[in-house]
Amino acid sequence: MDNNINNKKNNNTLIIGIVISLILSVGITFFSSSDVLSKSKVPIEAYRVYLKGESIGLIQSDKELYNYINHMQKELMDKYKVDNVYIPNDINVEKDITYEENITSIESIYNIMNEKEPFTIKGYKVLIDKTNATDYESEGETEEEKNNKEKKTYINILDKEIFANAAKKVVLSFVSEDEFTDYENEVQKSIIDTGESLENLYIDAKITYTESFLPVNEKIYTNENDLTEYLLFGKNQNMSTYTVQDGDTLVSVAEANKMNVNEVLIANANLKSSNALLYAGQKLTVGILDPVFQTVKEIHKVEDQTVAYKTEYIYDNSQLVGYQATRTAGSNGVNRITQKIKEVNGEIVTALISSTEELKPVVNEIIVKGGKQPTIVSAGNWGWPTNIPYIISSQFGWRWGRLHSGVDISGTGYGSPIYAAKPGVVVDIGYNGLSGNYVQIDHQNGYYSRYAHMVTISPYVKKGDYVVMGQTIGDMGCSGNCYGTHLHFEIWRGAPYNGGEAINPLLFY
Ligand SMILES: [Zn+2]
Repeated sequence: MDNNINNKKNNNTLIIGIVISLILSVGITFFSSSDVLSKSKVPIEAYRVYLKGESIGLIQSDKELYNYINHMQKELMDKYKVDNVYIPNDINVEKDITYEENITSIESIYNIMNEKEPFTIKGYKVLIDKTNATDYESEGETEEEKNNKEKKTYINILDKEIFANAAKKVVLSFVSEDEFTDYENEVQKSIIDTGESLENLYIDAKITYTESFLPVNEKIYTNENDLTEYLLFGKNQNMSTYTVQDGDTLVSVAEANKMNVNEVLIANANLKSSNALLYAGQKLTVGILDPVFQTVKEIHKVEDQTVAYKTEYIYDNSQLVGYQATRTAGSNGVNRITQKIKEVNGEIVTALISSTEELKPVVNEIIVKGGKQPTIVSAGNWGWPTNIPYIISSQFGWRWGRLHSGVDISGTGYGSPIYAAKPGVVVDIGYNGLSGNYVQIDHQNGYYSRYAHMVTISPYVKKGDYVVMGQTIGDMGCSGNCYGTHLHFEIWRGAPYNGGEAINPLLFY
């Protein structure tokens, strides 16, 4: 590599030497012919600067140009803390006698040079190639936004360590230092009863370094903190600093900046968890994350999930209206669930339940009421739209700078049933590029629910059908803009995407 560099570019003192000798020979010609020039049109003595054989201007003093070049070289050496700054090897300066009076300033000559053939320093060009990576972050993006994403990113760095350290810092935004070290050294603790282990941790891109001459008019990263910010926030780097005020919480800071709490933690590696305490005056980095590459984390997780008991009413005609007695006391059940979870840049993209063990069965509460069974189902009661157990793979709220207007429910498997959360009328059913196959129900009390990414357009219901709570309305799939089997479930107060307001469905359960 080093040999290659020396051959490619000449040493600058050598170039200047050649140029000076050239000027001397031109100078001699000039003096011998000066007396024959006309008096009315006085020619001027100047120097023409050539770059790659092409004239880029006339200057008054060659020495001034050399001094300027030397000065810029020194400045760049200081700026980048390097021993060599390479000047283009095809600059020539020739003495000229001319009637032309357009003398170009030295600065302009330098600017032309800097644009056409800038000074260079030795370093590395890093190629981050995402051609074979799945673009998980495109969920919610338009087709156009998706297509405009670059698959290849080039970054100039002074030495390899800067990139290696910055990339590690990015990865450490998604895993703790301890987790990372244990994973690297293959000394993770095995799971006893419940817990999680990191099965795989990688950057989903092909990264290659090429030793190169880096043009100084391009961004060259010389420090790992700058590069870390770029790798996390992308080329627009539209992040800013937020100063914590009295009364702020992580949730309020996140919400005010169109982020979720997890994203605030990613952007501020010094905040260790969502319980981190903020203090007035504290500076936080906020903004929309747009990582240059995807950090993928595959997790094996065992957790105990509570199954909340439901209340069932039995109506006894022999008792007076208003009579109420508990026949069976309710008690919550517990399921031990083994999950495989894939996270990309801190968000779950796929979640599968590989096994379920019932540690304690759920016992529903049974209450006997006097009188006849009412025909109207109470308005506050919502049924869960999938089988249990399940995994909430994405919460309602901000994600990647966009509002995720529902919850993603995973884990119950491809083709598993989707149930109407409440009785109502099917008012919309069909397919679109974002939602895939969806069903929308009007519950006729101002609330609507919407179910997306089904396997096919529902074979169970059609537009205009009345459905009861718990009725199967579709099969869980991954149609539309989706990267892993899940139900995208929305609840709206008012018509969805038409004047209504999306509400976090989990508030109803
Ligand atoms: Zn979703």
